[in-house]
Amino acid sequence: MSTGLQEAQVGRTFIGRLATDTDLVEEIERFCADAGIQAAGVSAVGAMRRAAYAYYNQTTKQYKEMASPSHHELSGFVGNISMREGRPFLHAHATFADINGECVAGHLLKGCTVWVAEVEIRELVGVELVREHDELTGLALW
Ligand code: ZN
Repeated sequence: MSTGLQEAQVGRTFIGRLATDTDLVEEIERFCADAGIQAAGVSAVGAMRRAAYAYYNQTTKQYKEMASPSHHELSGFVGNISMREGRPFLHAHATFADINGECVAGHLLKGCTVWVAEVEIRELVGVELVREHDELTGLALW
């Protein structure tokens, strides 16, 4: 039985800090486009001035978008880069912790404003990850 997993090789690794008041998703995607990264694993740690995230409803096949304008720790972040409509696309899920340690979490959206973000991008080569519409889930998957 096929697992759908493919073998890839490790390419370049990038690590650095994003500028304050930039958009977390847009900055990572722009960096990957500029660096020619088409597949990667991405992790990040830091703090956000604004959090934006979503929950995908498996019944309606629609995202419920949410945002919080208060300050949060970026306490969890896991994601990947693949190609969607010819450009590097970040798919990430994140957990945001507030002043009381209470968390919200979900599918990361554009609209997260960086206070501090230390980002690590681990390029994958020898693999082609292209997102296309999947009828069963309603999502763009590879
Ligand atoms: Zn997601």
